Amino acid sequence: MKLVPDLMHGLGMRPHYEPGELDRAFEKIASSHLRRRHGAVEYPLTTDDLTVLIEDHVDELDIYADLTSLGAGVEGVTAFKPGAKPKVLISSHLGESEARENRLRTTLAHEFGHVHLHAYIIDLAIEEGRLDRLRGSKITCKRETMLSAPQKDWREWQAGYACGAILMPAGRMTQLASDWRSGWSGPASLAMDALVGEVAQRFLVSREAAAVRLRVLKLTPEALAQ
Ligand SMILES: [Zn+2]
Repeated sequence: MKLVPDLMHGLGMRPHYEPGELDRAFEKIASSHLRRRHGAVEYPLTTDDLTVLIEDHVDELDIYADLTSLGAGVEGVTAFKPGAKPKVLISSHLGESEARENRLRTTLAHEFGHVHLHAYIIDLAIEEGRLDRLRGSKITCKRETMLSAPQKDWREWQAGYACGAILMPAGRMTQLASDWRSGWSGPASLAMDALVGEVAQRFLVSREAAAVRLRVLKLTPEALAQ
């Protein structure tokens, strides 16, 4: 991690992480958490694994929050308060429906990314008066940037990357893609669909989340063939 000037949120300086750093950090967090809870590191992480992970690091987690007043598409919020642990709110329309379980898990993992990566830098900016205590202390996260965001939107990019790294760790993704490649004999035109399906099933994520993760890790069938 290095500190670079923040051109987006007025924090003065902000952390910059290389993708590999985030992969290593979040795989370590997820595996320690699983080992503590279950005595073994086995994926997928359950929704329960994720809520307990967040609860260990926040003052409050509410997965039935009403976020409608924050605008259309807002599905998660991490609120920071200097001197206290953050608070995470997840939109109730994810927590109340089994059909949205994968999106709930994605949102939980994304907000954990904010909690782990951004608490200290935002607390510091509030304490130093660079961020407004009330307005600047809350990150609101929309559905469209939950998995990936442009790199200049660094808070969302980092939390989106963390989300993939927690749910689909790089080491296991590489192994899965390599095993899949040795066994795949279908046409190239169906390969991405098939691999996305394998990842989605293995790690209990949406096909969209699986596809994003395969692309960022350069593990798509096209990339594997090079
Ligand atoms: Zn976010």
